[in-house]
Amino acid sequence: MKKVIITLLAILLIGVIIIIFFPQVLFGSALGQKVMLTVSGDQVAEFYFKENQPKKDTLYMKGVIYSNTLIDIKEVLDKNPEVTTLVMEEVAGSIDDEVNLVASQEIRKRNINTYLPKNGMVASGGTDMFLAGKERAVHPTAKLGVHSWSGGDKAALEYPREDEAHKKYLDYYINMQIPTDFYWYTLEAAPADEMHWMTVDEIKKYHVTTTIQSSELLEIQKELSSNAFKGRGNGYNEKTQNLIRSYFTTIGLETFNSSYNSVFIFKDRDSKKERQGTNLIGYVKGKTYPNKYIVIGAHYDHLGVVDGVVFNGADDNASGTSALLVLAKHFKQNQPEHSIIFAAFDAEEMGLHGSKHFVDHPPVPLTDIKIDFNFDMISRNSKNEIYVVGTFPYPQFKPLIEKVAKESPLLVSYGHDDPKDKTKDYWMFSSDNGPFHKKGIPNITFSEEDHPDYHKATDDFENINPIFYENVVKLIQNSIELIDENFPNK
Ligand SMILES: [Zn+2]
Repeated sequence: MKKVIITLLAILLIGVIIIIFFPQVLFGSALGQKVMLTVSGDQVAEFYFKENQPKKDTLYMKGVIYSNTLIDIKEVLDKNPEVTTLVMEEVAGSIDDEVNLVASQEIRKRNINTYLPKNGMVASGGTDMFLAGKERAVHPTAKLGVHSWSGGDKAALEYPREDEAHKKYLDYYINMQIPTDFYWYTLEAAPADEMHWMTVDEIKKYHVTTTIQSSELLEIQKELSSNAFKGRGNGYNEKTQNLIRSYFTTIGLETFNSSYNSVFIFKDRDSKKERQGTNLIGYVKGKTYPNKYIVIGAHYDHLGVVDGVVFNGADDNASGTSALLVLAKHFKQNQPEHSIIFAAFDAEEMGLHGSKHFVDHPPVPLTDIKIDFNFDMISRNSKNEIYVVGTFPYPQFKPLIEKVAKESPLLVSYGHDDPKDKTKDYWMFSSDNGPFHKKGIPNITFSEEDHPDYHKATDDFENINPIFYENVVKLIQNSIELIDENFPNK
């Protein structure tokens, strides 16, 4: 009798060991499973929030999708209806494709966006789940893996295209509005026991990403340049300040002296009277060089209401302001090497007063500011051309920007920064880069050449070019990241 019990216990123990180390035996045996390579030893999928998250709108995920994932995801989303984005940090696959496809539909049903963060990774069934995001974005350093599946002794490609075995995947991709070509491509990309990492071109071709950044970018620009914001004229732009402050707060930017506000007084050059301005300043702490700073600046003020007409300044400079906010969010989610200060400047239109005040009363020693990036008018150009201004006096940054520019669909031009070049206006003192340049702080401005609506009441949201704008912000983001990670002449 004892012997029987011991034998039974031994069998049970072996069973448990098998299930723990080879869960695909239990979960992945059915026809058409995308069984992951390294499933054994991987933890099962967990959903969680991060410490110090100011708002529970971003949910994080790590681990392999398994039989309980559907229940888990429903539970966490039911409990936290404010979740808008699922950040997939490392989801190497699924050991239950049936559950995965249903759990993924749940994500789409609830209009959740998916995001692959810096150095993030999804593969196999994890990639399928990523595709469920309503809006989908991928950090340039993140990886997406695809491969075929096999059902027992038969590989997916051995089943004819009209075979039932393909149906659940095809139905899923159709539901997710992913071209069904994507499915056949994954089968060819790598066999079931290998992985193919998607190239940039493949990600584009199969609609893996949508333009999440672009939609938020445009939303903020549209709002800032609506009549309700009265042209954001200095002294009348409190509503704009509130929007920027609340955005800074929501994403959790750090403050200097416990406030984003930096109030200053300046003299109006026409009336000679004193006026007040307010810069809004926050920062993200750097991972490797927390005491060395990159400044990202853009002026949020515009011309206000002139003779009863609102000058909305959609391009000048709701475009730069919105880019600043979206990048602040990006760098908060993807910690940079250097600390980054985000400075929304007031009273630029009246003589660069906000940025002058910033460099005269800097929140950190000026010698610790390694570079300033300035965005002023970046959302329209009839020639698809964007100027990078500042590489003539600061040539050390040019090779890095050129590297990023090579991958951009934009015509990236350099200039307006050589005082001897009489063919072009000199822009080193025409925007908020000027005060930084005067102090000898390296600076790069992104700006387009003037357009017919420049400083006119017709500088409206309807007249900007969303695709151009999105491409410029991508160029800016990639340039800043490359410079942050490979800072020249330290
Ligand atoms: Zn401007």
